[in-house]
Amino acid sequence: MSDTSSTKPVASGEKFRTIQGTTAIKDGQKRRTSAEPQVYEPKPKWLRVKAPGGSRFEAVKRNVSEHRLSTVCQESHCPNMGECWSNGTATIMLMGSVCTRACRFCAVDTGNPNGWLDQEEPQNTAKSVELMALRYIVLTSVDRDDLQDGGASHYAACVRAIKERTPQVVVEALTPDFNGDLQAIERVVDSGLQVFAQNVETVKRLTHVVRDPRAGYEKTLHVLAHAKRHRPDVLAKTSLMLGLGETDEEVIETMDDLRAIGVDILTLGQYLQPTRNHLPVKRWVSPEEFNRFRDIGLEKGFMEVAAGPLVRSSYRADKVFEKNNLGLAAPVSVPGQDIAPSIIPALNLN
Ligand code: SF4
Repeated sequence: MSDTSSTKPVASGEKFRTIQGTTAIKDGQKRRTSAEPQVYEPKPKWLRVKAPGGSRFEAVKRNVSEHRLSTVCQESHCPNMGECWSNGTATIMLMGSVCTRACRFCAVDTGNPNGWLDQEEPQNTAKSVELMALRYIVLTSVDRDDLQDGGASHYAACVRAIKERTPQVVVEALTPDFNGDLQAIERVVDSGLQVFAQNVETVKRLTHVVRDPRAGYEKTLHVLAHAKRHRPDVLAKTSLMLGLGETDEEVIETMDDLRAIGVDILTLGQYLQPTRNHLPVKRWVSPEEFNRFRDIGLEKGFMEVAAGPLVRSSYRADKVFEKNNLGLAAPVSVPGQDIAPSIIPALNLN
């Protein structure tokens, strides 16, 4: 999903020049020269999914291709795309494809876009949502520490443009932390969205290893707490990846921290290593273990917990929003129709 100015493919971890003329690192992490040897175990069978299909899926796909629209679902080869698109849900990434941060789990390109923004993005995004005939849109974005307000005004303009054009569409915004700037958070939360999300990503102890140094466990809690205090009617949502070395107790402690500040919706998914330059997977969490975490989360008072190996923060967000998690079990393997698990690691977006 990188904007490269030449046709020559750029290797993961290499520098390249974007079409805006700035430099960036492909896939966000520099090539590791003295990487410790890693053990690559085969992925468990529950990480195989059914190939997408169905009439609604085909209709959305046709619209996306005819109008040359860009979705995170397609660009990250998301294995849940068929299920989400068939139900009128998709994810669009705002503010470019280069992030100012470099989280060690994430394959988004890293660099400094030097203030670049596409001023037509709010209107074009709204047109895309209408053309795709969506019922639920998840907006996400790279972090933009190069912008004075972290991109909050632009983000809010995109939500307002969607709501003006298609007021019936439910909007979820998975935002950057805006460096904890309260006014920036309020600007986005007041834009007309229904769900405000900021991902805590991992447990407190591992945050400094997993996320960029400018991110923080407490900072994310502070952002979510402020959003909820400011607009109690807006749902607050967050996500954690499991398999990075956390203990079960730490996951449960994180749930307590999130409930204490009023977070409504939690998603839990398996961490997958995007490239060898990223953090290795420490454990495969089974579907049964995910189900147990879901039960614990519901007991703790979350309105909904979507938990499963392939669950990502935007996975079937429409269903989660409707408080109807029935049928959100991990996708099952269908012989002969599987997507190769090797494409799955590109998924850790935000
Ligand atoms: S997780 Fe978000 S903030 Fe971190 S590098 Fe990826 S896009 Fe940037």
